[in-house]
Amino acid sequence: MTYNSTRCYLIIASGIIVLSHAFFTVSLWWLLLPSLIYLACIIYGSSVIQANFFAPAYCSADTTEKIIALSFDDGPHPEYTPQVLALLAQYNATATFFVIGKDIHGNETLLKQMLAEGHSIGNHSYSHSFFIDFKNVQGFKDELNQTSDLVFNIIGKRMTLFRPPYGVTTPNLAKAAKLLDYRIIGWNIRSLDTTKDSVEVITRRVQSQIKSGAIILLHDTSHKTIQVLERTLNFAQQQGYKIVGIENMLEIEAYQ
Ligand SMILES: [Zn+2]
Repeated sequence: MTYNSTRCYLIIASGIIVLSHAFFTVSLWWLLLPSLIYLACIIYGSSVIQANFFAPAYCSADTTEKIIALSFDDGPHPEYTPQVLALLAQYNATATFFVIGKDIHGNETLLKQMLAEGHSIGNHSYSHSFFIDFKNVQGFKDELNQTSDLVFNIIGKRMTLFRPPYGVTTPNLAKAAKLLDYRIIGWNIRSLDTTKDSVEVITRRVQSQIKSGAIILLHDTSHKTIQVLERTLNFAQQQGYKIVGIENMLEIEAYQ
């Protein structure tokens, strides 16, 4: 479901204005209220990918089957991505790697290995810049196309899965993704594996939320994640969950 934020704003604003006219005594400060609510709506909608505020995002699968999906953002990483791949192979699990274009150079063989071992590759922008959300539509298209070209030159496939950097969606990002036929992939289990939390805390956070159709967000960028991954794979196996590719779980295509 998508929400029309402008309409939301107009309804709130006109409601307040009608109320203020009805009672006359309403302070001018109340007239600022819709703007504040609007701002809060925008911040919430942009930062919570599950809100589907500016763009529809796949955040889980509607299934009762005991299947879950793993996603790794911010790679490829020369040290940690090979360790993730080794663990996945050991547990016969497949995952999706949302790669950053600027980090592909020098790690081309890792992308080939991902594909050869049954994993899928998704777009996570070219720069992953902290200021990426200030880009216009063309800026986002350039980000997506640059990474798409790099990946295509290595694996011969055009990606269709896109994970917005920081999980933040803006109207310009949503428009660019739509124009280029990307599917936005979110998550419903955020490991927070890039925080200072311990392996134990992160592992517990992930394991306590595992259920059918879940999409777990991890990052193939630290030793901590490798430890969390090993424990999570072990836990999933014990609980009888099969770890499948996001595209298979969502019954969509990962490539054009
Ligand atoms: Zn990221």
